[in-house]
Amino acid sequence: AHVITEPCIGTKDRACVEACPVDCIHPYPESDGQEAFDAAEQLYIDPDTCIDCGACVPVCPVSAIFPMDEVPENMREYIQKNADYYKK
Ligand code: SF4
Repeated sequence: AHVITEPCIGTKDRACVEACPVDCIHPYPESDGQEAFDAAEQLYIDPDTCIDCGACVPVCPVSAIFPMDEVPENMREYIQKNADYYKK
């Protein structure tokens, strides 16, 4: 799966949501409601649904998205952080 990391915090640009063919990036207003979007610190990729197509990577304005095995050392915690969002 791909992982959204620290630069997304405070950015929450939704270009990735529009690029994703399997709608596995949440929360976003259209499906989860504006409140959930506003409350979220960042956007998250559902690791069980992501097909690793890579479409979200180049459209992110802050380069926050990486394939799981390429997440920088100092942001490895985001792998679990993305997965945890979907365990609620
Ligand atoms: Fe969606 Fe593809 Fe990005 Fe996975 S890699 S989150 S499937 S756009």
